[in-house]
Amino acid sequence: MRSANARPLVGIHALVFVSGWSQEEATRGVRLCRETGYDFIEIPLLDPTSVDVASTSALLDETGLEATCSLGLSFDTDTSAVDLEVATRGERLLEQALEVAHGLGAHYLGGVIYSAMGKYMEPATVAGRRAAREILKRIAARAEALDVRVGVEPVNRYESNLLNTSSQAIEFIQDVGSPNLVVHLDTYHMNIEEEPASAIRAAADYLGYVHVGESNRGYLGRGTIDFEAIFDALVAIKYAGPIAFESFSTAVISQDFASALAVWREPWTDGTDVARHAREFIRARLESRITSDAGSESHGKK
Ligand code: MN
Repeated sequence: MRSANARPLVGIHALVFVSGWSQEEATRGVRLCRETGYDFIEIPLLDPTSVDVASTSALLDETGLEATCSLGLSFDTDTSAVDLEVATRGERLLEQALEVAHGLGAHYLGGVIYSAMGKYMEPATVAGRRAAREILKRIAARAEALDVRVGVEPVNRYESNLLNTSSQAIEFIQDVGSPNLVVHLDTYHMNIEEEPASAIRAAADYLGYVHVGESNRGYLGRGTIDFEAIFDALVAIKYAGPIAFESFSTAVISQDFASALAVWREPWTDGTDVARHAREFIRARLESRITSDAGSESHGKK
């Protein structure tokens, strides 16, 4: 997904508004996404077969909203598991997610699609990494045929043992060798593992999706992340792909999802308020930079 004027489209993770994707939740999620001013909604496909593709597609068509899709594998569907049965279940889940994403008209599927999303008690193995790589190679090829880009999101050490940094993700997709793979960076995870602005600059040639989240996954600007440096870096590399706001509170998400991500508190109770705040926060930082960037180009050396 690329905006015509090369400005990033700004979206929001659906779980800011709803805990699942039943018909009622889909209707509410899409409506709230629209009302709070976003260009697209990121639909979680943790359980792809539960998504009613026809009704969600109709909702998207009615509202003119675009969709992206994401998921994290579990220890039961871990494609980096040496147990072939587990890894195969993971591949099936990714295939199903891909079909649903395509059915929804989404052109992006990303997330923790190379290991379980959870705390490992031991380091990744060479065999596990190889298994995850071979599965992703097949998924990326299938996705390319469906015009869906696939994003590899490195996450912090407590949520995967395989890819924790931007450079690890780049190396991994180089190993897979599919032109249909991009790196998906998340400010919350980068803030734990590396210096976010430098990581973004270093990933310039591979970056295809960005999650914006605060250090405590709550309101933007009320944690410790240096978003000025991050938006400077995104504009400097002329990033024009999607940017999605991600924030989780036990006020909304399910117990299972909360436990997987170690969300034990309510950084907020009103999803629409945190969504509106984030939309304005991101818009202000993009617009000031893109306007001044365009200005400096037109008055520049040429
Ligand atoms: Mn993320």
